[in-house]
Amino acid sequence: MSIGAKMRVLIVEDNPLNLELATDLLEAAGQTVCQARTAEEGLRLAQSAMPDVVLMDLGLPGMDGLAATKALRANPVTKRLPIIALTAHAMKGDKQIILEAGCDGYLAKPIDTRTFAARILSLVEGIKSRQPHLTQCP
Ligand code: MN
Repeated sequence: MSIGAKMRVLIVEDNPLNLELATDLLEAAGQTVCQARTAEEGLRLAQSAMPDVVLMDLGLPGMDGLAATKALRANPVTKRLPIIALTAHAMKGDKQIILEAGCDGYLAKPIDTRTFAARILSLVEGIKSRQPHLTQCP
């Protein structure tokens, strides 16, 4: 998947600055973005908006991102959706917890404006190449 590949990206992020920054960077890279500010809204949009990938902030008010990831994995409609955790805590010990919750990968914050979109697309490409049945066509 090149940087020109068109995806629908669902971003679940409660921090408005991070949400807008991630949205701007992905849209500038030609992607379509839908936004959720809570896990509950994210779960709803993951079903209704048919995203190609979910970017999941782990620190959310109420239900956190790990619980939301587990909920997506428990739902037949969303259980195979690629999920990339956005975390400020991407240290060695946390990687295991993130992957065990059902995330396919993670990207550490703060967001690097120069590389963010390309890294997301690269992560999605890697996830889909490992599990080609995940590819969703509109
Ligand atoms: Mn947060």
